Amino acid sequence: MDRLPMHGDRWQSSLHWQPTDAQQQDFQQLYAEILAVNQQVNLTRITTSEDFWEKHLWDSLQGVAPWLSDSQPEVAGLRVVDIGTGGGFPGLPVAIVFPHWTIALMDATRKKITAIELVCQNLGIANVSFLPQRAEQVAHQPTHRETYDLALLRAVGPVNTCAEYALPLLRLGGQAVLYRGQWTADEEAGLAAILPRLGGKLRSVRSQTTPLTQGIRHNVVLTKVDRTPDKFPRRPGIPAKTPLV
Ligand code: SAH
Repeated sequence: MDRLPMHGDRWQSSLHWQPTDAQQQDFQQLYAEILAVNQQVNLTRITTSEDFWEKHLWDSLQGVAPWLSDSQPEVAGLRVVDIGTGGGFPGLPVAIVFPHWTIALMDATRKKITAIELVCQNLGIANVSFLPQRAEQVAHQPTHRETYDLALLRAVGPVNTCAEYALPLLRLGGQAVLYRGQWTADEEAGLAAILPRLGGKLRSVRSQTTPLTQGIRHNVVLTKVDRTPDKFPRRPGIPAKTPLV
């Protein structure tokens, strides 16, 4: 296994931030642990050190760039949920960089959650919890519904499906960051049309270019502005099979 690149200049120029030495060591160990667990449980196809740096570390953190360059005390203790975390992305890099946040790592596939639980134990990452359940179920549980400050979703399906998973979990004023690749005017119009039904509003669409391979990324940021009606999210499987239109 290779050493991870530092790319301090690339962090700095793209996100106006750089990892500390301790965080860089955590990233290196995360890389090693994910590769080790990946032998047993298929967590990721991204395995070279440069790819891991760009597509897992950098990409996970670019979605929370506004908080990276912001040291205001009120952002100290966010309650975050990573919906469909898979191999722990974007949740694990975020947990490493924001030790005062608490990150609930949610995935419908129990064996993935079991695998990343082991990774977190080995790394000593303590500001995380594990939800081996579907978003459609968790979002109807009173201890989770409308309680999160921030929801993160990367590669979890159509954007309207993601909105239906995320908005019921957010408190009023909370935000969701939907990590997207390409982003079209049609998608944006389709999303804007359904957000009012979920109590959401489109806050911003930020675009970024990945620093090593110049891929395109968009972060679609939603804000919760009204309570979400109890009927959302719909029953397990429905939001993905029949996204709201
Ligand atoms: N976010 C990770 C993984 C993306 S793969 C990354 O970007 O690398 C999508 C993951 O979402 C899968 O692990 C799948 O099990 C999970 N998933 C899909 N639908 C879900 C749902 N309704 N609730 C919870 N997890 C879900």
